[in-house]
Amino acid sequence: MPLVSAAVPAPWWTPLTYRSESVLGEGLRVRVPLGRDSRVALTVAESEEGAETEKIKSIERVIDEKPPLPAELWRLIKWFGDTWFIGTGLAAKTLLPAKFFTDEKLPEIRQTPNSYQKFSVESLYGAELSKRYEYYRTAAEGGDRALILFPEAKLAKAFWKTLPKGLQDCGALWPLSPQARWKMWRLARSGELRFIVGSPAAAFAPLAGLSAIVMDEENSGSWRTQSHPLFHTRSLLGVRADFAGSRLVLGGIMPSSKCYLRAKPICLEDKNDERLVFVSSNDSQSAEFEALRDTLPLSVPLIRESVRAREEGGWVFWLLDRKGYASEILCEECGNTLRCARCGSSMRWEDSKKCLSCNVCGGSIAVPQSCPNCGGRLLIGSRPGLEALYERARSALKYKFKNVLLIQNKEEKLPDGKQLKREFPDGALIVGTRRLLSLCDELSPAAVGWIDADAEARGAEYDSKARAFAMLWESMWRGAEGCERKVIVQSRRPSTGWQEGLRRGWGLFWRRELKERSEWELPPFMPLIKISAERGDARKISQKLDEAGAEYWASEEDAGEIWVRTKRFAALREILKPFFSIASTKKTFPTVSLYLD
Ligand SMILES: [Zn+2]
Ligand SMILES: [Zn+2]
Repeated sequence: MPLVSAAVPAPWWTPLTYRSESVLGEGLRVRVPLGRDSRVALTVAESEEGAETEKIKSIERVIDEKPPLPAELWRLIKWFGDTWFIGTGLAAKTLLPAKFFTDEKLPEIRQTPNSYQKFSVESLYGAELSKRYEYYRTAAEGGDRALILFPEAKLAKAFWKTLPKGLQDCGALWPLSPQARWKMWRLARSGELRFIVGSPAAAFAPLAGLSAIVMDEENSGSWRTQSHPLFHTRSLLGVRADFAGSRLVLGGIMPSSKCYLRAKPICLEDKNDERLVFVSSNDSQSAEFEALRDTLPLSVPLIRESVRAREEGGWVFWLLDRKGYASEILCEECGNTLRCARCGSSMRWEDSKKCLSCNVCGGSIAVPQSCPNCGGRLLIGSRPGLEALYERARSALKYKFKNVLLIQNKEEKLPDGKQLKREFPDGALIVGTRRLLSLCDELSPAAVGWIDADAEARGAEYDSKARAFAMLWESMWRGAEGCERKVIVQSRRPSTGWQEGLRRGWGLFWRRELKERSEWELPPFMPLIKISAERGDARKISQKLDEAGAEYWASEEDAGEIWVRTKRFAALREILKPFFSIASTKKTFPTVSLYLD
């Protein structure tokens, strides 16, 4: 009797073996018994004749007679499962809609021949959005079967609206609701759609005959997933284009490290001195705050440019990546920082001083009357945040500025830009985090002020400078009149280091940054892998890494966190395999995160 290996969408890597009535190919959905329940799984190899034993259970039902996915997408799922150390089951679950894992029958996929059959990469970098749009439009108009993707749903919609009606009829805009998405997902397989325009959610649509993938703003952080498995969609789409033998068109206001390294595109926006105002925070007037130890620099040029922009009815953004009134609160008597009872992280002082919120787990308490450590009464905040900035903007400048808004995005959703425009026809000053940059599309501010540019680049990650640079670069260009905007950068070391690239273009930035990363053997030159496991497992994994002579180090903060620097994924997979066995379902599985660029 044939035996079948099937991958269940679950955290373990082990495929499960079942008996089957007939010989089955790979990549088919089957319903299999699992414990007392049953699940929809995918066959991962052609079935083989095997010795019949009593212990092996039978498949309950074969759902697909023919592979339900385009061959390139199925190959991508297997590659993703292997390379990302997550297994085929979890890889499939990550890239496919939940509805796929049901008994719902799917019409046979239309295998439209791909007109290219050869993988190629084109790149298109520059601040002018209309030029990029024009180029992408040719992908929709030509003979390609194209996925045209943008980092945010509203950007996809904006592009879609530029397409003439006749062209829209041949393609589709990827919908937002899960039901509509499932319908569209099915339709994509039918061969009726020539192209799909969408957000990252459309990146793994099963478009029949895929022959072009367009990715705008490929360097944007919005392509990164926020939960396990962590990946940047570009890493997967590059491989998908290769497997599909399709064109890959990468564009944006700046390239990612990998794309810069590969194609060495030329930055044309390399003389930006007129629009940039660098200010030393040391020379800035410091604003004293009630019950705060530190100050916030508000420089004369920042005020001057902001007032000028507001007088002309323009929008102004002041950006600071610190929520609340102060990032931390501490006792002046014993010097202790107040920490979260649940997770031990520092807490920020917020809601204009009524409560403390944990910076990590989100727990919140009323501000204590005295220090929990020594009973001292003098509690003081440090590192002023947005609420303090807002207070300052309103009080000190109230004769100059009307309409000062604070957007902290507590609800994780930005207000609608068009709505704001209606509400404040004369513009406003908005104080908020970097998430405000998305509002540049509708409001295109005349001035943007970075209150503490150094803080943006201070993260512990190897790419924190690149992220800061990309953010400030975005603030210089995003939106209709981006190239007219004044950008004020307050910093302790203005216009030096990574900031110099703002004046002279991302070419300069990447040349320096990549030289440094190559010396330190960091991505994109060498992959970094983070393994998070329970302490006991972490110890065992470390031992095995030692035996294998791998280069690794343990995190200083977290005993369960190990960082590995290696290109030998196959060897690492062998080391990790025992920890991802189905036999260990009773405990927590380790998670592996990959940093490639
Ligand atoms: Zn104290
Ligand atoms: Zn906490």
